Amino acid sequence: MTCPKCAHANPKRFGTYGARKIQRYRCRDCGATFSPAQPKPLGRHTTPVEDASRAMLLLCEGMSVRSVSRMTGLHKNTILRLTRTLGDKAANVFNATVRNVSACQVECDEVWAFCGSKMKNVPPDKRGVWGDVWTWTAIDAETKLIVSYRVGPRSPRLAYDLMIDLASRLSTRIQLTTDGLYWYPHAVERAFGIDVDYAVLAKRYAETPQGRYSPPRLISTTKEVIRGNPDPAHISTSFVERQNLTMRMCLRRFTRLTNGFSKSMAHHAAMVSFYFAFYNFCRVHQTLRVTPAMEAGIADHVWSVAELVQAA
Ligand SMILES: [Zn+2]
Repeated sequence: MTCPKCAHANPKRFGTYGARKIQRYRCRDCGATFSPAQPKPLGRHTTPVEDASRAMLLLCEGMSVRSVSRMTGLHKNTILRLTRTLGDKAANVFNATVRNVSACQVECDEVWAFCGSKMKNVPPDKRGVWGDVWTWTAIDAETKLIVSYRVGPRSPRLAYDLMIDLASRLSTRIQLTTDGLYWYPHAVERAFGIDVDYAVLAKRYAETPQGRYSPPRLISTTKEVIRGNPDPAHISTSFVERQNLTMRMCLRRFTRLTNGFSKSMAHHAAMVSFYFAFYNFCRVHQTLRVTPAMEAGIADHVWSVAELVQAA
């Protein structure tokens, strides 16, 4: 320990400060007081790791930012800033660890949410900033691992991004099922070439919904083989649809007909990133009894949220 002012060694202990009782020192030569640099596990944030982890866990259990604020005593803006930083960190963890996945049956789908306002109500000055935002996911039906995801508009660009990212994370040939969205077949061809067994499961819904609060009635489903030789028994989007429901229940931002929706695209994307890392590494799957990452062989234990927020 040397004095930061005069570099004199061997300072005198000079009490502590703060709730965490950080040791303070005084230089015997120039009289300057100082304390050793504290580790900053969360970068620029000074929130203790336990508090930040608890807030993130509550956000992943369906609570709104304001209710998390009331429960943890953290300020709303602190929680939002943490979401941004930790969401980006979690995206890095996901990126680095979800690699060489040996999946068998992968299912893809998109789930809708909105930011600020629904597309038809976006005021002119918020065009391009607010509106509909889709979460694109690819899930392995066997291990329930989220292999790839994208957040953005419902556009061919995102379909390509998802497929190319998915292909880059796999180590085995897969059977792939997507919904009937017409950009998928071309995107799959570009990303996988002939190295895939690919089928589309198109669902047709009744034109007029029976009511605002119930989903439209399913009329028929058609299975169409696009490429390779997919096993008909596994042409399904059930698991990815179930995952979409789980996400709707776990992230308050996705709850329809409430005002818990996202107010900023960046926070929305960060929260989705955090949720997927949390889902893969921290959340014990009810039917698997382990986390999806353990089932897929890319993690050897259940990660705590504290571990996730400090990783990467
Ligand atoms: Zn000094």
